[in-house]
Amino acid sequence: MKRTMTRLAAAFLAAVLSVTALGVTAFADVQPCKTCAKEGLTFTGFVATTEFQKVSETQCARVYQCNNDHKQLTYNTDGTYRDVSDHAATKNATCTEAAVCGNCGETFGAPLGHQVVTDQAVAATCTKTGLTEGKHCSRCAQVLTAQTEVPKLDHVFDSGKKTNPTCFKEGFTTYTCKVCGTQVITDKVKPMSHWYAEWQPAGQGQNSAPCKRTGCTYTKTTACADWDFKLVPADADKAERFTVCPVCGQLSDGGRLEMVEDVKTTPITAWTPEGDLLFRAGSLENGEKIICVSFEFDARLTQCYGNIKFTVPAELVEGSKVMLLDADGGETELEVESNGKTAAFTLNFNTIEDGHRTPVRMLHLVPVSE
Ligand SMILES: [Zn+2]
Ligand SMILES: [Zn+2]
Ligand SMILES: [Zn+2]
Ligand SMILES: [Zn+2]
Ligand SMILES: [Zn+2]
Ligand SMILES: [Zn+2]
Repeated sequence: MKRTMTRLAAAFLAAVLSVTALGVTAFADVQPCKTCAKEGLTFTGFVATTEFQKVSETQCARVYQCNNDHKQLTYNTDGTYRDVSDHAATKNATCTEAAVCGNCGETFGAPLGHQVVTDQAVAATCTKTGLTEGKHCSRCAQVLTAQTEVPKLDHVFDSGKKTNPTCFKEGFTTYTCKVCGTQVITDKVKPMSHWYAEWQPAGQGQNSAPCKRTGCTYTKTTACADWDFKLVPADADKAERFTVCPVCGQLSDGGRLEMVEDVKTTPITAWTPEGDLLFRAGSLENGEKIICVSFEFDARLTQCYGNIKFTVPAELVEGSKVMLLDADGGETELEVESNGKTAAFTLNFNTIEDGHRTPVRMLHLVPVSE
């Protein structure tokens, strides 16, 4: 014990001498405490602590404590720090922060910096939005340059395809994008009304007709329109009553008036009414020839106005006077122009009987006696 004390004291003396004469760099391997020296305390030796102090960006050195509890770094004979070691990272460096040493508790080295990856631009199409070019870090995933959305492009539509309306479905035009095939339907047209073929008697005071539009299978059956007339037969002096349905031609005496084809109408003082012309001719059971003229739409008679010229095949009225028959049996002869092929006469739909207009004109063909 005593020997140890003596040796330490000798070392101390040597150290004090060194301080005065040579300065820090020339210290012997046992470096006395600078604080003890300054304060005139007796230095007996250093003990290694578990603390370290950063001495450079790569290294830290152990801290020693003297017998008077002063802490400092110690030096080797060549002036380098004793007990120097590389920093030991307990927290690795990141893109933006330097590593932290577990020994000295300091950061060391430089942050790693971001690993920049380019995010490719994405072109916009007419179905998808695009993106501008961006950048992000592949290590920390931080977005460095945000990608911004590029609006969708407009569709490039073709010139359109028309779908015609049917009796039940509306018509429309379909425009298709030449790029993506997106379809836009526009220009809608209401469904058409049925367009009936000739009305036929269906019994029990009804008539029916199929729709004649392609693809339509609808057949309408509806009540006949019954019109009463009186007519004085050629060889009689008393009027006889009869009823006709101008729509299907059904006569109350069991006969039927047939449609006459090739009849042309020309409006003279008014427009031709909507709907189809019903120009029916035939004979009553008593032999009298009659013609029933009206217009029909959806099985209903339509009222037309003004004067309409009818041009018919000449043989229909050949050899006859054309008499306009009123509901009470009165007859007025019509002027007929004939060129041998066709005959023409004018009917006035403006006449008012019993306070209202009627949509039906009844003609009586009276043979011309020679
Ligand atoms: Zn000290
Ligand atoms: Zn360290
Ligand atoms: Zn990063
Ligand atoms: Zn498109
Ligand atoms: Zn139809
Ligand atoms: Zn009918």
